[in-house]
Amino acid sequence: MQEETIEQLIRRAQEDRVDFVRLQFTDILGIVKNVAIPVRQLERALRQGIQFDGSSIEGFARIEESDMILRPDPSTYCLFPGLRPEGRTARFICDVYRPDGRPFEGDPRWVLRRVLQEAAEMGFRVMLGPECEFFLFKRDADGRPTVQTQDEAGYFDLGPIDLGEDARREIVLALESMGFEVEASHHEVAPGQHEIDFRYDDALVAADRVATLKVVTRTIAARHGLHATFMPKPIYGIAGNGMHTHISLMAGETNAFFDPSGPYQLSGTALHFIAGLLHHARGFTAVTNPLVNSYKRLVPGYEAPVYISWSAQNRSALVRVPAARGAATRVELRSPDPSANPYLAFAVVIAAGLDGIRRALSPPESQDANVYRMTPEQRLRAGIESLPGSLEEALEELVQDDVVVRTLGPHVFARFVEAKRIEWDVYRTQVHRWEVEQYLGTF
Ligand code: GLN
Ligand code: MG
Ligand code: MG
Ligand code: MG
Repeated sequence: MQEETIEQLIRRAQEDRVDFVRLQFTDILGIVKNVAIPVRQLERALRQGIQFDGSSIEGFARIEESDMILRPDPSTYCLFPGLRPEGRTARFICDVYRPDGRPFEGDPRWVLRRVLQEAAEMGFRVMLGPECEFFLFKRDADGRPTVQTQDEAGYFDLGPIDLGEDARREIVLALESMGFEVEASHHEVAPGQHEIDFRYDDALVAADRVATLKVVTRTIAARHGLHATFMPKPIYGIAGNGMHTHISLMAGETNAFFDPSGPYQLSGTALHFIAGLLHHARGFTAVTNPLVNSYKRLVPGYEAPVYISWSAQNRSALVRVPAARGAATRVELRSPDPSANPYLAFAVVIAAGLDGIRRALSPPESQDANVYRMTPEQRLRAGIESLPGSLEEALEELVQDDVVVRTLGPHVFARFVEAKRIEWDVYRTQVHRWEVEQYLGTF
């Protein structure tokens, strides 16, 4: 880090009267981790990084390779909102290094950086705009999260203020104070469900923001006595939480997806990218939809994708091309959910699209009919496949997709698959309440 940058950051922390600095990073399973240091350690952190024990973080490193260094990314400095009682807190997002100075290959941010480097070598800057959905649930008398929403709180609880709307407003203000440009925030279709969209930006910035958004949302919801969850499908029979991801490629100052004379005014690059997404969709789903519960969202009837198709018109498609053209030309991938590790999810999705460009893959016809209304035979004839139906199936697909495997790298791949196979195994041997209700009396 340059001397000038270090001095500027130290001055800024003084001006902001910072007491503590949070060094933030994300583990392989997408859990945000923090190391807090008193502000007088900031200079040392900026110059040398801060050492921590990687083996104490699940899936990160083995005991014998446990010493890791956190290096703050200077561009990510901001004040962490509303933690006054402990003093004023600033935060940095960090990259993880080995003591010998090499980037740690188990750091999800590094996995994304590598893909973005590949994109840069192909002449592209990758821009992403995620839409994060979540529920705000009430807590019980002991403060434990429930799946009851404020909206359905019942006649006696209806007051002049909607607690959920209030909390969301404060979440948006907090995010803006951290430098987010929130483009929209609104109530979603399900009771208690909300969405926050921020302006598209560089893919790495977008991933950092998703990680931050989850922490800030949970923190502020808790202060309102609510529990925020990004769990993909917390309640049977109503909509789940998605993380639609808008993607575009810039070549210099121009949008590489736009071509006024192309089909649908899309460039060859855009069509190849779409083809890559469709081609690898089954392979990357374990990463974009990493929980057992993710697959309960990917079912017909709740605006979540099930079939592998693209459309310039239809919202039910896995890949939708929103109507805007020119600089705003982009594709929207609708399968990811917000339980995904944003760094890994964006990395595999971008790698899929880039592979489509490299191999000049062509997408099938745009599917403008509602694929949900087609019979299985019609879909078969149209060559429309489905996304994996379970975490188990998704893992089987993942290990066979060379592009996805290579993108994760051996370290992340091995630990991710190991952890997810255990998760699946623990789940599949449970006896579900539904099974008891269905079978206990009859058999
Ligand atoms: N909640 C839906 C999903 O699971 C999306 C709803 C929407 O934004 N149109 O993806
Ligand atoms: Mg939306
Ligand atoms: Mg939405
Ligand atoms: Mg959308």
